[in-house]
Formats: sequence, C-alpha cells, structure tokens
Amino acid sequence: MDSRVAVASLGGTITMTGSGAVSPTLGAGDLVRGLEVGEVGEIATLATIPGASLTFATLLETFDWASKQVREGASGVVVIQGTDTLEETAYFFDCLWPHEEPLVVTGAMRHPGLPGADGPANLAAAVAVAGAPNSRGRGAVLVLNDSVHAARWVRKTHSSLPNAFESFPGPLGLVVEGAPQYFHPAHRLPALPRPLDAPAVPLVEATVDDDGSLLDWLNVRGVVVAASGVGHVSAGMAEAISRAAFPVVVASRTGAGTTFRSTYGFAGSESDLIARGVVMAGWLCPRKARVLLRLALGAMQPVEDVFAARGGVF
Ligand code: ASP
Repeated sequence: MDSRVAVASLGGTITMTGSGAVSPTLGAGDLVRGLEVGEVGEIATLATIPGASLTFATLLETFDWASKQVREGASGVVVIQGTDTLEETAYFFDCLWPHEEPLVVTGAMRHPGLPGADGPANLAAAVAVAGAPNSRGRGAVLVLNDSVHAARWVRKTHSSLPNAFESFPGPLGLVVEGAPQYFHPAHRLPALPRPLDAPAVPLVEATVDDDGSLLDWLNVRGVVVAASGVGHVSAGMAEAISRAAFPVVVASRTGAGTTFRSTYGFAGSESDLIARGVVMAGWLCPRKARVLLRLALGAMQPVEDVFAARGGVF
C-alpha cells in the first residue's frame, strides 16, 4: 500500500533544457528531486517528448500506469506534460478515469532555464491537489498557476503567459496556502469504456467562403466541424455534410458557449444540420469534441448518446 501521490512525466517545456533552443531532456525524478512537493510515491518517466507529439497510444499507456498506481494504493496521480495539448489530454483522461482518486495534469509555460520558471510551483501545486481529500471524485483536473480547472472546460487561451489556461465558467478552485479550495462540490459523469483503437478523426474549421468540399475528400470514421456561432456552416458545407458517409459532430468555434438546436432555420443552420443527421457538441469545444468522438468510436459507443450525455450542463 502506498497512500502517497504517484508522479509520471511525458515531457513538455517543464522538462526542457539546452544551451540554445530547448528540448525535452529531464525525467520525472529530476523534476521531483529537491523540490518541496509533499508526499510523492512512485515516479516514472513514461515519455520525453513535446506535447504536440503525444499520441492516444502514449496516453492510454499513461492511463494504465496511473490506474495501476491507484489500484496499488496511491492517493492520487500527477501527469506532467507539454502544455500545448494539455487541454485535450486532460479531457482524454477525464472521460476514461473511473477512480475516485484524482488524476492531475500539469506542466510549465517557462522552461527551467528561464527566470521565474513556473514548473516547480506548478508541480508542487499539482501534488498538493492530487493528495488532497477534497479533490476526490472530481475526475481529471488541470493545475497551473495555482488554479484548478475542470478538464471539460479548460482551454489554453494564451501562447506564452504563465496564466495561459482559462475555463469559461471559471476555475473549479484555487490552491491557497498549499492546499486546494473548491468553489463547487464534486460532480462527475461515469467513465467511458477503454477504447479498442483510436480512429483518426480530423477537426475541420468552417470559415467564410468555405463550400466544405474538403469533406468529400476524407476517408475517415468521423469528423468534427468547428462551426461558427451556435453551430452554423455555409449552405455548401451543409450539402457536403449530407453527402458524408461518416458521423459529423458540430461544435462552436467561438471558444465559449453552447451549440443551439432550434433557433435558426436557414440552410447550414443548427436545426438544418440536425435534420441532416449531425450530432451537436453542446458546450464541448471542437478539440474536446474530437477527443470524445475518437473515444466513442474507438469503444464502439453510440456517438449521439455519448454527446448527449457529455455535451450538456446540469
Ligand atoms: N510550450 C509547450 C509547453 O508548455 C511545449 C510542449 O507542449 O511540449 O510545454
């Protein structure tokens, strides 16, 4: 039995060193060593790569490693990785994580060689959150800049600042004097089954003067369209969606707010797209919708039901 927090690293800026431009070199042991980070148990370096090169296969291996740690008694798990894809991987873990123990993802915006490097503070906060009893039952959360964000809401909204992550309804809580304080009680949805594979699912953004003909070229098992406003595309793209032989999920490209269902009636509007068989992503942003569609297809789950269960608020 090990009631301490397990820590795995996958790479990212927090692990990057170099005499000029930096790349991932440090492992989990290097990051934890010498740091005041509370009770750390098992430590593993599962990858040493930038966030942009992470794959679903690596994430599933990480998920299995993290599950094993909590089955063996860890009070929580911290996964360290690049911030570039953290909003997607946090949601990946959140959809699959079946445990009461928290899974916390973190990283850094400034590499270890920069003044004010934020990796140590973020890691210390992440370990504190992962080990705290009031973090239980919250699934996967993202901790950066002393803020605790829900995986389904958090987005990287700035390319370089240390406070690069925001959630549209605000963070779930803050780390204060070394411990998390939450604004809402714990709430989560049942975990999805582990996927058997991870089918390729492109994310296509609908833009002005866009007839959607790109969709005709795709030979895939599903597509997410980042549509404008409450879920609108051009009349041409609506026709292309009708021709598609794969499920199409429509999310809003705006960065906040939900897709609608029945307000607008023109060709390419949300009600028209629903009539053409599209699945609306609701409050999920296009990137999270893509993660969810891949997981649903990979686990042979009905796409419409999965989005109906996870795209809404309560
Ligand atoms: N800028 C990124 C980071 O903050 C690089 C990466 O995602 O690996 O970690």
